[in-house]
Amino acid sequence: MADSHTIIVAGAGIGGLTAALALAAKGFRVVVLERTGRLDEVGAGLQLSPNASRVLVDLGLRSRLEACAVTPDAVTAINARSGRSIVRMPIGDVATRTGSPYWVVHRADLQAALALQVAAHPAIELRLGCALDDVTLHADGVTVSGGGGLEQALALIGADGIWSAVRGRVFPKIEPMFSGLIAWRGTFAAEAMPDGEKLRGVQLWLGPDAHLVVYPISGGRRINLVAVVDGSWSQRGWSARGELTEIIARFAHWAGSARALIGAVERWTRWALFAMPDGGAWNQGPVALLGDASHGMLPFAAQGAGMAIEDAAVLAAGLGASHGDGRGTAAEVAATLQRYAALRRPRVKRVQRLARQNGMIYHLPGAAALARDIAMRTLGPDRLLARQNWIYDWRP
Ligand SMILES: Cc1cc2nc3c(=O)[nH]c(=O)nc-3n(C[C@H](O)[C@H](O)[C@H](O)COP(=O)(O)OP(=O)(O)OC[C@H]3O[C@@H](n4cnc5c(N)ncnc54)[C@H](O)[C@@H]3O)c2cc1C
Repeated sequence: MADSHTIIVAGAGIGGLTAALALAAKGFRVVVLERTGRLDEVGAGLQLSPNASRVLVDLGLRSRLEACAVTPDAVTAINARSGRSIVRMPIGDVATRTGSPYWVVHRADLQAALALQVAAHPAIELRLGCALDDVTLHADGVTVSGGGGLEQALALIGADGIWSAVRGRVFPKIEPMFSGLIAWRGTFAAEAMPDGEKLRGVQLWLGPDAHLVVYPISGGRRINLVAVVDGSWSQRGWSARGELTEIIARFAHWAGSARALIGAVERWTRWALFAMPDGGAWNQGPVALLGDASHGMLPFAAQGAGMAIEDAAVLAAGLGASHGDGRGTAAEVAATLQRYAALRRPRVKRVQRLARQNGMIYHLPGAAALARDIAMRTLGPDRLLARQNWIYDWRP
């Protein structure tokens, strides 16, 4: 007999930890299985727009995140060749309009803040060094094996990232696809800013076949860079070393100030960009996927973590409404998870499409790039920002 009050979450990434907190807030006991023995400092900066930050604020994370996040004043698009600003969009206005923060934060700081909140919650058990090995679905729930033990539960949430073991065990085989793009990521100390100025906003440098995103993280003490280029290197993982000489050569024709930013990075890591194809399954019986496990996407809408956080809120609200106090049958759990998938799919698909479009627009060469820059200037900051309202205005 499955425990009618326990939910297992596989993966203690951004989506999994948010799901654990949101489910515990609805009265569930939550067991989180995490493969790694330590929540290491992997990844780099993330932008958290109001649609995601409001979920985290509602879960009580405001003060923990204010201590490490930065509130950027603007997003400035810059022409990579000339080094001149194309348009400056005051992102602070978005926070004022929506009533929720727009933050930039190191992924490790966000994960640490979530983990501290999880550790303080008596209904959540986080088991580190405990990879999910197998899943058995039965009439009244699931049995999960991992870390040498067996756990029974009402439902299993696969929040175990783009190479999800839950997806591999439970769903028809569907593999992430390599995009032909590689994200180089690195940071440097804020005092080492090449022009000596304090960076307060997000810079988006647009060049032929490449773009560069730069913003402060870690309470403004460090600067985060992501340089996206094309290539055939396609290893899995977030932490492969990148050679400085290679990235310098790729940006040799960019404006001096962009090259200076690239030269300031202390250590580069490379991350081959994979995305899940549209149309895969998100749920089956008592099992559902969230975050990158179901919809790993290109990062060019800056919403991968945001969508994982939204998924967590919607999933917990659904399960809380139908099963919050031990009510409901296994068939009703399956129906709730089906509704969750139906609610989330259209929005996530639209964000995935936007990310693909942005990738193409960012990397336009020659005359097409000139036309893009003119179009952005003509639209102006207010209308450019308003095009994002459907993302930022979302509420659980
Ligand atoms: C260059 C780049 C820039 C980005 N910028 C942004 C941004 O600005 N804003 C934004 O919102 N998103 C951004 N993203 C996307 C974001 O990083 C991801 O979408 C997000 O981290 C996904 O969260 P997740 O919880 O689904 O998966 P993950 O964070 O990948 O977590 C999965 C967890 O599951 C664990 N795990 C794996 N297998 C198992 C197993 N068998 N058993 C137990 N545990 C397991 C892993 O160890 C990991 O801890 C960016 C991504 C890239 C590549």
